[in-house]
Amino acid sequence: MPAARPWREIPDVPSVAEKLCRYAEVWTTSDPSSKTFPSTERQRDLGRLLIDELATLGLEAFEDEWGYVTATLPGTTPTVVALVAHLDTSPDAPGENVRPHIVPDYDGSVVDLEGGNLDPARQPMLMDHIGHDLITSDGTTLLGSDDKAGVALAMQLVEDLIALEADAVERGERPAPRPTLRILFTPDEEIGKGTDRLDLEALGADVAYTLDGAGVDVLNVETFNAAEATVTVEGVGVHPGYAKGVMVNATRVAAAFVAALPPDQAPETTDGRAGYLHPHTLESGAERATVRVLLRDFEDAGMDAKRELVRALGAAVEADHPGSRVTVEIAESYRNMRSYVEDVDSRVISHALEAAEAAGIDLEFEPVRGGTDGARLSEKGLPCPNVFTGGHDFHSRFEWNTVQNLERALRFVHALVRRWGAEQPPS
Ligand SMILES: [Zn+2]
Repeated sequence: MPAARPWREIPDVPSVAEKLCRYAEVWTTSDPSSKTFPSTERQRDLGRLLIDELATLGLEAFEDEWGYVTATLPGTTPTVVALVAHLDTSPDAPGENVRPHIVPDYDGSVVDLEGGNLDPARQPMLMDHIGHDLITSDGTTLLGSDDKAGVALAMQLVEDLIALEADAVERGERPAPRPTLRILFTPDEEIGKGTDRLDLEALGADVAYTLDGAGVDVLNVETFNAAEATVTVEGVGVHPGYAKGVMVNATRVAAAFVAALPPDQAPETTDGRAGYLHPHTLESGAERATVRVLLRDFEDAGMDAKRELVRALGAAVEADHPGSRVTVEIAESYRNMRSYVEDVDSRVISHALEAAEAAGIDLEFEPVRGGTDGARLSEKGLPCPNVFTGGHDFHSRFEWNTVQNLERALRFVHALVRRWGAEQPPS
């Protein structure tokens, strides 16, 4: 069995991995039951640590009353690119006393940790990382690579750029043109509130990227189109002892509606680019019943088909139960992030593709089967795809990343900044 050793015992840990391990040690779990914002004060501990580190680099960073931390690296072109990572870790797994470990030169076997094993049989992606230096927790907590890896990438990028540009000046050269970078660290992403109190106007960015994606060589620019149908059934209620030929039981009608939903369009039976219909709530009595159904699809046409299907099933069930009345109301929730991105500035995608090519990375677009902070920002007018950070098995005690994945993500982010710098002639 390969030995996982506490990261501080490993010599010469590269700087970006060292940052991930150090930030991972700070307890920043968010709390969905909290009434405060941020949901936990401890998230500010990491925010303050980052402010101190940025100050050491000569950058002024600010924490606002809600726990958002921002810093600016002034550039030489007019564009302002925001890089966004979140401070909190998921409440789905323990996040206190995180002790990062490193397995140098991973050989593909089971990794023995204090709190359990990392096992390629359960975590097949490990087999794609033989020869990498694995970063894990000790198995009793999550690692928090989601999203301390994103935080580490942003911090390392800033540190690198400052050093590179100082070197160029020292050599009497003009540094490569670069957009202004706005670094933004947000609280409470894991409880779906990461952008709730964000002042977009004050942020003043033209485009943004969240550094919060799983795996490598992936850009998330698509999320579902989302809507919710409320199907209301009105029956005819009478005393069940005298109901013959009179009662129309709304519970039965609602159950027939749920049963009519196609089983091959359920979240339980779909993945990848397939959408679904998800009946998540049923409230029913004999006289009245309500079914709430989530509609999800990446394509507009698929969304139209799902709306039509729900309405048609409602009408069919009503026809099958004379005396009942079935009404279907559909409320739109949000659109595929890609449509917002393309409406505002599709360069966030094309520049990412060109940057990947320059960095020798074959970038893939992977759709996200859920919401992201980037999707909310895109909807509010700040186009914001999500960049990979190398991590795997998020929100679990067996979460891991690798030194090499982090370095790969860093290489991509550098290329991305260079591509945006080439956008305009230096002013
Ligand atoms: Zn995340």
